[in-house]
Amino acid sequence: ETITVQELASRMAARSGEVIKTLMKMGVMATINQTIDADTAELVVTEFGHNIKRVSEADVEIGLKGEEDAPEVLVPRSPVVTVMGHVDHGKTSLLDAIRTTDVAAREAGGITQHIGAYQVTVSNGRKITFIDTPGHEAFTAMRARGATVTDVVVLVVAADDGVMPQTIEAIRHAQAAQVPMIVAINKIDRADANPDRVRTELLQHGIVVEKLGGEVLDVEVSAVKRTNIEKLEELILLQADLLDLKSNPQRPAEGVVIEAKLERGRGAVATVLIQRGTLRMGDVFVTGSEWGRARLLLDDRGEKIEVATPGMPVEVLGLNGVPLAGDDFSVVENESRARDVTVFRTRRRRDQVQAAGQRGTVEEMLSQIASGQAKELAIVVKSDVQGSLEAITGSLAKLATDEVAVRVLHAAVGGISESDVTLARASGGFIVGFNVRANPQARDLARRDGVDIRYYSIIYDVVDDVKAGLQGMLTPIL
Ligand code: GDP
Repeated sequence: ETITVQELASRMAARSGEVIKTLMKMGVMATINQTIDADTAELVVTEFGHNIKRVSEADVEIGLKGEEDAPEVLVPRSPVVTVMGHVDHGKTSLLDAIRTTDVAAREAGGITQHIGAYQVTVSNGRKITFIDTPGHEAFTAMRARGATVTDVVVLVVAADDGVMPQTIEAIRHAQAAQVPMIVAINKIDRADANPDRVRTELLQHGIVVEKLGGEVLDVEVSAVKRTNIEKLEELILLQADLLDLKSNPQRPAEGVVIEAKLERGRGAVATVLIQRGTLRMGDVFVTGSEWGRARLLLDDRGEKIEVATPGMPVEVLGLNGVPLAGDDFSVVENESRARDVTVFRTRRRRDQVQAAGQRGTVEEMLSQIASGQAKELAIVVKSDVQGSLEAITGSLAKLATDEVAVRVLHAAVGGISESDVTLARASGGFIVGFNVRANPQARDLARRDGVDIRYYSIIYDVVDDVKAGLQGMLTPIL
């Protein structure tokens, strides 16, 4: 634990110059931006005649995520689903079709609002929550922030087009997150639809659907003709039963921010997916580095509600600032506690940003491997030709030791894209570019998020570097 001289001064409401002088008297030479350790800071505080109140991370965050729930208070909760797949394969159409088959919405004649997620009631009264920002960018961005939101991925593949590059990316994202997949073979109304070709192509990428004797559930649908939408929902519920999803509704609410924005006339608005407990009007909460008091709660039809329970997406008004998608959300006892937590988190976030500028995720991962905390080295491989791709992944697989494995998150022909960077980022891994380069957007994102991109033109060098990495000796590129 450390603190900068400036921060220490401002917390004591003292001049930095005075703090620096005091440090000098103690034999410590420090400038205003330099950090000093907690023990030294403590001595300075005493010198200034203040009482010491060390607030550690554990103290501030303690009890924020409530303890484990006893099994007897758990009740089943609805599954949360993200729809992924190649562009134009029908993700948006499918989400629309699902919404318009919603029994409850039809009865209420409700006009639906876009708040980032919605919940539908299936014919037997059970509910399913859909994240309605399709695609893997949102999915991975949230995962990179440490949020696990999705229980099931619906992979949409158009029957007239088959498996395409983003289909494979989506598969890799779901696999990296270890989220089960259901394949929706879409556009079966089309004359040129060939669902069996989709199944065979998926097989070539290691996905064996039920019809071919595998374990991955699949269903033929038409989003436009509303064919088999109920069947798809049944499969989702079946998958949810296998996962045995449960939650305790009788506690202060906890959840994740799905979307957040600043709106004229409404202020900061966040869509929160409630994961545990019940959120009530008037509750004080913290989310990311922001806090607020729930002034107004709206459901996915824009209607005012008093309480939100697990599985429900809810629009929350009354925030003091805009949180980020993927930020956690927790109800706390009172405002002073909320303030303490956000002050602490703001400071920590700033420290992390500074640290990220200095150290990449690879170094973090390597130090974890060296200390025995991490068990695998995650890699994304992009190459100019299929042949070298196979040679590289084949050699990497052989490098695993008893302690550490090499995990190829994704291997494909083509340049390095933003999607590759987010995938590597979410798993703390790095990217190998073999005779290919990163596009400018990917480069910027990698720089911002501290993801390491390494370029090679000799397979032997790739293998050598990864081997060094496994031994915790990879030289950082700064
Ligand atoms: P997204 O990019 O994956 O979100 O795809 P969209 O939902 O925007 O669909 C792309 C195009 O495919 C649109 O023109 C849709 O009307 C069309 N489409 C989507 N689902 C179906 C379907 O089941 N049958 C047919 N014939 N067309 C579809």
